[in-house]
Formats: sequence, structure tokens, C-alpha cells
Amino acid sequence: MILALLAVLSMVTEVAALPFLFTRFRPQINWTQPRMERWVIEEQPRSIEPHLDLVNHPNRTHSAATSGDGSDAEFLQRLVSIRHNQTSKSRMLWYDVGSGDGLVYPPFVDKALKLLNLKQVAFEIENSVMSKVTCTACRAGSGMLQHQIQSGKTDAELIRMISDYCTNLNIQSARVCQGVAQLFGSELIYVIKRVNLSPDELCSFIIGDGCGDVYNPYHEWEVIFPPVPKPPRLADLPIPLEAAPFFKVLHISDTHYDPHYAEGSNADCNEPLCCRLSSGRPATPNAAAGKWGDYRKCDTPKRTVDHMLEHIAETHKDIDYILWTGDLPPHDVWNQTKEENLAIIKETVKQMVEKFPGIPIFPALGNHESAPVNSFPPPYVNQVDISISWLYDELDIQWRRWLPQSVTHTVRRGAFYSVLVRPGFRIISLNMNYCNNKNWWLLLNSTDPATELQWFITSCRVQSSPMRRFM
Ligand SMILES: [Zn+2]
Repeated sequence: MILALLAVLSMVTEVAALPFLFTRFRPQINWTQPRMERWVIEEQPRSIEPHLDLVNHPNRTHSAATSGDGSDAEFLQRLVSIRHNQTSKSRMLWYDVGSGDGLVYPPFVDKALKLLNLKQVAFEIENSVMSKVTCTACRAGSGMLQHQIQSGKTDAELIRMISDYCTNLNIQSARVCQGVAQLFGSELIYVIKRVNLSPDELCSFIIGDGCGDVYNPYHEWEVIFPPVPKPPRLADLPIPLEAAPFFKVLHISDTHYDPHYAEGSNADCNEPLCCRLSSGRPATPNAAAGKWGDYRKCDTPKRTVDHMLEHIAETHKDIDYILWTGDLPPHDVWNQTKEENLAIIKETVKQMVEKFPGIPIFPALGNHESAPVNSFPPPYVNQVDISISWLYDELDIQWRRWLPQSVTHTVRRGAFYSVLVRPGFRIISLNMNYCNNKNWWLLLNSTDPATELQWFITSCRVQSSPMRRFM
């Protein structure tokens, strides 16, 4: 469960350019300040309450986490049945936990840990392969966490426990385990305490296809289509001529600039991100981090980002506009802070303004912009210490260099927006983190977070006509 949170999922806005709709060759971006949308988001139906009621849904096929007597024996039996139900036999080994680590677990925890091949799990998560092994680990891990919560452990005890399991089972280095437990623990415990889902339902949601297709009525929802006629299908439009006008578009994504990258540092460390002074000394000359970057577990040095942007700006002086789809911070997901992430966003925005003066830039949000990574609470999570407004409010300020004031209400609400670039040409930028199954807030309620999909449908249907298309 905790491990699953380390997985990286890059979300990129899907684009489809339709330059043939324009009549002049190389049309200039003719920036028009969009008029205020007719859409008033506050007036739209929205789901604001998470499903916190501990009432079993009549259509559920799986028992809730709260079923059973909650005893150690009952919990262990559930784990055994999880193990027997999974099918990946050859890779599912009984893992020998080294003894003498000085930690005293309850006896049932020792038995439970032996059900899992945790090394395999760690490998799969770092490599974004989610198989049955990770699924089983997720079910056992979330079962264990729920069990400990039910037995009255405090948040501090739970966080310590997560950290100890991770360290003693050698899943990551001690400081990564500690950092992950501290950073992700309190939010995760907050959510797990409030959901009424069984481990099967939780893990089917988080891991997806690799973890069965468990029916979960709590995540069933509908959207409303406005009563306007459908625009004609794209297939009905003529194929563009070879000499048709076009835009030159630059798409930049996932720069993951690491301010702490150090040439010559260890590129082959045992942590999710290397090539920093803190990664230790390289064991061999070959293990040393390169000048311009490294293909091992490293992010991008500043000089490489600078050089790349300079090269693009010099070589392509005729860029019409830029699509910039985020993932700016580095992958040190165990020790990120909100302040550091904001500093990286501000610095990179400044850099883009300097390198591409006067060129319109249309940004979108990546999953790494939040701290902790993948954590994007929907608007109903409004406690000051957990709300996501620390990020969206700053994005609104930073993105305003390129976007009109009319988008402020949707950017501050959910980091999505729609702008009219020129008559007949609109760009819609979506925040796909509300479709990210690693965003644990969706476990509370995944029904159209921030009303984004409903807004998107209405934006498309109300504003579209045969001559209006979207990116
Ligand atoms: Zn990325």
C-alpha cells in the first residue's frame, strides 16, 4: 500500500492539432481575451461529500473492512485467504524475514510478512510493473494498516510502524523508509480511517487491472449532457491539403529538474533517486554521475535544462505557441516539501518567460507538482493543513503570465481551464490527477472530483460548433 505510492505516473494532456481549419498559411496566434464563460461553476451540481457513512451498499459484492471480529486470528485468516486466492504461484515465494532486528512485532504480523515476497514488490513498484504480487502486497498491507487502526494505535505509532516495516524488510534505505512514512503516512491514515472499503476494493482501485475488477458501487457516478445537438464527427471533415496552413507547436514535458544534481556523485545508489551528494561516493569510476545527466536513477541537471531551452529558442525562432505539461520537480519523493516544489515551479516559470518571451504558453499540471507526490485532495477536503490550495493558488499566479483572468476560478478550484486562443480555436487544459488511481483522496469519493468532467463536457458541448475544435 505504502509502496504503491512511490510509483510514478505521468499525466499528459492529450492533444490533437487541426491546423487545416485555418485559411492563411502559418497563421499568427491572435490572442483574444476570452469573454467570461456562461458556465458558472458554483451553480453546477457537485459531489462535495465523501462517502463516509459506514453503511453497507446493497449492491456490494465484497464485505467491508469492518466485517469480522477484528481479532489477530481473524486477520491472519484473511491474509491466508488473500494469498490462496492469488494466481501468480511461481513468483509468490515465502519470504524469510531475517531475525535479530531487535524489533518485536506481534506474532501474527511476523506470519503475515512471510506471506509476501517484498523484494519482488519493491522491484515492481520502482519499475511501475503492477502484477499479482504487488496486488497481494497491497491487500495484505492495507489489511494490516486497517487492523492496526482498529486496534487503537495512534497516528504516530502507525507512522513509526510503517517506517519500521519498510526499513527492517529492506524495501528501501532507512532514510527513504522514514521519509515516505512521515510524508505520506498522515494523509494515508486520514483516508484509510474514513473509508468503508475492504482491502480487495481498495487495491482494485489503486492497482487497477493487475488486482481484479472488484465492483465498487461507491465509485459509480454519472454526468449530465447539456441538451444541445452533437457536432458532426471528425471523420466527416476533409483531409488537409499538403500546403495547408499550420502552427509550429513546442511541447515540453517532464523536465524533472533536480537542483541538487551533482556531477561525479553516485549514479548507482539504492534509493529511488541518485546523482546527489547525499547519494554517497561512487563505488567505481563508471558509477559516477555524468556532466549532462545520467541514464540511471537520476533527474536532470540545471545546465541540461538551460542548454536544451536555449537550443530550442535559437533553432526555432518561429514557434507559435508552447504546450507545457508539467512534472517539474525531481523524483526525491521521500523528502519533498511544498516549499521546495513551489520554488521549482516559480524558477522554471521564470526560465520559460525569459527563454520564450512573447510566445503564448499553455501549461498543465503533472502528478509530481504536489507534495507528497500524487496527493491532490478534491475541493471538499478543506481543512487548512490538507487542502491543495497551497498549490493551485500559486499556479494561478504563475500561469497568469500567459492566461487571462477569466480562468482564475477553475485554476484555483482544480487547476484546469479553457481559453479561446483565436476565434474557432480553443485550448482546454485538464488536471488529470483527478483520474490518477495513485491519488488516495479518490478513495473517499471518486465521483467527478472538483466537477472537472462535468465542466469539460459542458465546455465542449456548449462552445463547440462545426468550426470550433479543441486541443
Ligand atoms: Zn514525469
